Amino acid sequence: MQLKEKITAGGRLTFDEALSLYDMDFFELGALADAKRQALHGKKSYFNINRHINPTNICADVCKFCAYSANRKNPNPYTMSHEQIMEIVKETSARGIKEVHIVSAHNPDTGLEWYLDIFKKIKTEFPHLHIKALTAAEVDFLARHYGKTYDEILDLMVAYGVDSMPGGGAEIFDEGVREYICKGKVTSQQWLDIHRKWHERGRKSNVTMLFGHVESRAHRIDHMMRIRDLQDETHGFNCFIPLVYQTENNYLKIEAPITANEILRTMAIARIVLDNMPNIKAYWVTSTVNLALVAQEFGANDLDGTIEKESINSAAGAKSANGIDLEEFVGLIKNSGFIPVERDSVYNEIKVW
Ligand code: SF4
Repeated sequence: MQLKEKITAGGRLTFDEALSLYDMDFFELGALADAKRQALHGKKSYFNINRHINPTNICADVCKFCAYSANRKNPNPYTMSHEQIMEIVKETSARGIKEVHIVSAHNPDTGLEWYLDIFKKIKTEFPHLHIKALTAAEVDFLARHYGKTYDEILDLMVAYGVDSMPGGGAEIFDEGVREYICKGKVTSQQWLDIHRKWHERGRKSNVTMLFGHVESRAHRIDHMMRIRDLQDETHGFNCFIPLVYQTENNYLKIEAPITANEILRTMAIARIVLDNMPNIKAYWVTSTVNLALVAQEFGANDLDGTIEKESINSAAGAKSANGIDLEEFVGLIKNSGFIPVERDSVYNEIKVW
């Protein structure tokens, strides 16, 4: 059977077949991904209204691609007090926002309580808020630094009110690339083990892939395959989020940024290869809003949200990281021929706009 027929018939792709999709005609590839997307979601494009909070940028790890943590290139260390965080949450809730997305650097000086108590405070005062917090990289750091097992940290997260886990820290699973770009951080296997354990607790999470730096196309396919395997086991991932590497203020020194064509190809391939993943996100903070709108025709069915105040990618040069007006966002989705659907954090539909 030809590859195109196999995809149309819903066949599962091998590594080599998936890799060969990069050589397919651009629009043919887009059409195949779009058919998959439409079979799952029609013309609906999901988004949610959330507030990103990045409580500290002081980090015990040194990832080459990172422009967020305080270092020589970014000599601006900060750690928020719980009062400061609660002030943001209070104001966020007052405006009807339903999710706080809390991700920090790996600060070795705050104590475990600083990381955890804030979740309890938020849940106690704002029980309706969904708390998405602590990447697997943070879980690994906290476990190592405070002499706990992953199970213990994950149980504490549940007990303190974390509802779901973000997908950060996955980067690229290939061990060689990882050694080069983020040596010392959570390993690929550990990242996957942590998410498996989280899913075993009946909880959902997302999974990212940082691409457009030193990795090859084969590394991206390998990354997707490892995700597909775990998803077969647990069905705990809501969404795959390809993150476009941002070139500024970091130590990787990538001269040629990835092209829009390559970004869209990667989105489309993800939609085809990840046949067990409900949602593919075009995270416009790293891809730009315009490209995210086009990505809707290349397999992406989620545009994240209005994203109020994001610090991590904006530090690395992402130009659109300070949020977007809701009316404008909805208008852009409609004008591009799709149906904006506001969702909650676990993809229940809240409102069709
Ligand atoms: S990516 Fe995360 S873990 Fe790595 S240096 Fe930056 S803040 Fe620290």
